Amino acid sequence: MQQLQLAAEMLGLDEGLLEILKYPKRAAIVAVPIRRDDGKINVFTGFRVQHNDARGPYKGGIRYHPEVTLEEVTALAMWMTWKCAVAGIPYGGAKGGVRCNPKELSLAELERVTRRYTTMILNVIGPYQDVPAPDIYTDAQTMAWIMDTYSQFKGYLVPEVVTGKPLHLEGSEGREEATARGLTFCANEAAKHLKMKIGGATVCIQGFGKVGFNAARLLDTQGSRIIAVTDSKGGVYNQEGVNPAKVYRHKVKTGSILNYEGCKNITNQQLFETKCDILIPAAIENQITEENAGDIETRLVVEGANGPTTPQASEILVEKGIFVVPDILANSGGVTVSYFEWVQNLHREHWTEEEVRKKLKSMMLNAFDDVYDAMKKHETDMRTAALMLGVGRVADSLISLGLWP
Ligand code: NAD
Repeated sequence: MQQLQLAAEMLGLDEGLLEILKYPKRAAIVAVPIRRDDGKINVFTGFRVQHNDARGPYKGGIRYHPEVTLEEVTALAMWMTWKCAVAGIPYGGAKGGVRCNPKELSLAELERVTRRYTTMILNVIGPYQDVPAPDIYTDAQTMAWIMDTYSQFKGYLVPEVVTGKPLHLEGSEGREEATARGLTFCANEAAKHLKMKIGGATVCIQGFGKVGFNAARLLDTQGSRIIAVTDSKGGVYNQEGVNPAKVYRHKVKTGSILNYEGCKNITNQQLFETKCDILIPAAIENQITEENAGDIETRLVVEGANGPTTPQASEILVEKGIFVVPDILANSGGVTVSYFEWVQNLHREHWTEEEVRKKLKSMMLNAFDDVYDAMKKHETDMRTAALMLGVGRVADSLISLGLWP
């Protein structure tokens, strides 16, 4: 809300338009009862919030997390609206979630949660209405269950109802690593402006999931040194750099990054205090705060997670002269390839990995340049520039559509 307010002020946005943009168009809260493997019944709470669809169907991930709230999902839905507008793709913004601890659920229980949740939001999703995708602790398998549940009700297969599906089930080449690849393009562009070499740059990453791990892997192949990585349990540090694939294997084997050979164990807090050239928060929101922003010693922050930096921390980073590529730009590679997947599904096409990467690069570089130019033009920081661009594009669509009735 604070971000929207600031962008609206800088754009000189009409007060009525701002009022429209402050609220989601629809917020669904649903009960998700399932039978556990032991026969008992548990009821989880699910959400789907649709913020704005002035530029196209709603689009946004679904997360399974014990701390999911309506407020969080609403904020994430609004960010999706700006993100899709900044990325230049014809989508609005939405987000969903189920308040549960997926680590305590068996695969069969997760399937039942997913199918029941899908049934409860069946009337508000659809290929031209709202197209969900994976987010924290959901994956291609989750999307396959959603697609199957939706298709069972329709009576025919509807792959275009979700993105981030398995490759053999109408998924897109390059989707799994898309967010990280897009983030890496942004890191490279920002480094050029900072006259910093990516090869040899030291990198700290919080979160070692789909975004964090793939970002580590891609930057490692460019010669960057990944000196610290953490996940929900903490992580490891080694000034010489770690091999991301080996750390990943260690995590799969032991259930955690901790105690990886030749490294010092660190906490998430220590990760933010580690001096580096590039810092990538790729876990959850509100990790860089007023309390720790002052300790951050880096030249470049590239936000893989959504909302990892609080507004107060954001100001501190700007004052410190740290170049921040904000979430709605830096992690938009995921939704961009999701859009490619949807287009392929609608046309019953399958593009090659090379085609996907080429198109992603072109769209990411365009988006980066648009935000960078807006930053220069308005003499502001990258986050405010990205918000102004996103909010401005949505406002333009709303003005032309008019207000019904
Ligand atoms: P994921 O579930 O694959 O990984 C999440 C990672 O964060 C895990 O390593 C987990 O251990 C870690 N984590 C969770 N809570 C933490 C905590 N309190 N402290 C430290 N680490 C913690 O999820 P993901 O898809 O990689 O998503 C990560 C972030 O990126 C989220 O904010 C998500 O909204 C955002 N994002 C993801 C995509 C995508 O395509 N997957 C796209 C855009 C944005």
